[in-house]
Amino acid sequence: MEEIQPNLFRVEIPLPNSPLKFLNSYVIRSSDRNLIVDTGLNRKECLDAMRSGLQQLEIDPEKTDFFITHLHADHFGLLSKLVTDTSQVFFNRPERELIEASGWWERMVAYAAKNGFPENELRAAIQSHPGREFGSEWVPEINVLQDGDEIIAGNYRFRCVSTPGHSLGHTCLYEPDRKILVAGDHILIDITPNIQCWSDDQNPLQNYLASLDKVNDMEIDLVLPGHRRLITDHKARIAELKEHHDRRLKEVLTILGEDQQTAFQVASRMTWDLDCDSWEEFPRAQKWFATGEAIAHLRYLERKGLILRKDEGEMTRFSRNESPPLV
Ligand SMILES: [Zn+2]
Repeated sequence: MEEIQPNLFRVEIPLPNSPLKFLNSYVIRSSDRNLIVDTGLNRKECLDAMRSGLQQLEIDPEKTDFFITHLHADHFGLLSKLVTDTSQVFFNRPERELIEASGWWERMVAYAAKNGFPENELRAAIQSHPGREFGSEWVPEINVLQDGDEIIAGNYRFRCVSTPGHSLGHTCLYEPDRKILVAGDHILIDITPNIQCWSDDQNPLQNYLASLDKVNDMEIDLVLPGHRRLITDHKARIAELKEHHDRRLKEVLTILGEDQQTAFQVASRMTWDLDCDSWEEFPRAQKWFATGEAIAHLRYLERKGLILRKDEGEMTRFSRNESPPLV
């Protein structure tokens, strides 16, 4: 527990077995309505940490509203255990539509198979997906907020900044007077927010890079990220993140070389910052994230005209475009 600014607190919520280690939940205390930004996984360790944090701060759950930066289970999952009848839940529209639509797990599984994820590992990968295990089936009543909308909590007046990329509708909160950005997983230090793509009609990496540019131009003194340490120099970190993706894109082009490959094959040849000797030893959930990340980079290159996508029968393969457009 840490008071970052008067009545703005960071509560550390443990994420057992996750390389992210913990989630930063931000709590704004007010004599009127309190606001909690992001919550943790829907599991006991997270609930215990949240409850003890709120007790220390003497926060009355009956007078508390919620803002969730994006739908990933480590941010959204615990919400179901915290809301009361009087709570308002603020969230973005694209992801509200996603959680209200049924059958998206099934569509993701079919899409992964099409991209070369082996049939025998698919179901197991889904079973061990944290969103499956510690998410929540329950859908709250949601107040949709859009880019530029305001939320007032105590002495803080936040403006929503839509930053799609890490997820479809990811949204940050900006406090212009204090020059604070509550960033969710848009900008993290030490770790690179993972950018996955699970549909042919999206280009999340392009969205992400555009969202980085958008935030880069803002006047920010302090970034409050969803995981790890607070960030003071957002421009330097954004430059590193952009460089990282640039390197990745070049790596994917090199891996494709002369061959036609599925996204799964490309993922197995990319370099990953994991404690495993070989791709075969990767935990299944990590193979899943890696494949989603490979697809995001492949789609970006495809839209740029640098690679070609071929849908043959049940399988999608990528190859280099030998005559790329001149730009
Ligand atoms: Zn997260």
